[in-house]
Amino acid sequence: MNLDLDAAMGRALDLAAAAQEWGDTPIGAVVLGPDGAVLAEAANEREKTGDPTAHAEVLALRAAARVHGDGWRLTGCTLVVTLEPCTMCAGASVLSRVDRVVYGADDPKAGAAGSLWDVVRDRRLNHRPEVTAGVRAEESATLLRAFFRAQRGL
Ligand SMILES: [Zn+2]
Repeated sequence: MNLDLDAAMGRALDLAAAAQEWGDTPIGAVVLGPDGAVLAEAANEREKTGDPTAHAEVLALRAAARVHGDGWRLTGCTLVVTLEPCTMCAGASVLSRVDRVVYGADDPKAGAAGSLWDVVRDRRLNHRPEVTAGVRAEESATLLRAFFRAQRGL
């Protein structure tokens, strides 16, 4: 299955919506191979698994490396995620050598791909994925707002 960025983000948004059903913050991620085929997908599973590092991006990158066929390297791949990656996930995308990070909504409180930090394009690092922000951002933000509103019992 080959997806353009809009469609890949649509899939990530579906995964995000599923995560909230088991009580996790609605964040979803898809990794596309060099040819645009879906290599892996995941949703945030921190609450579900009790694993503080089970962010959608980390889970999707790990799963993608298992099928991509170049060891741990995801050269030529694209990480598509509904919310701007945190420091851990921005770091994981640099370490996995993805070519590109595409995200939906900005995260002014914790984003590490341009908002609070810019781990992904830090010139001191020798691998810097290209960043595309704001893809279907409003849909992602709406999902997150509704989730947090429900959590506060409003
Ligand atoms: Zn993260």
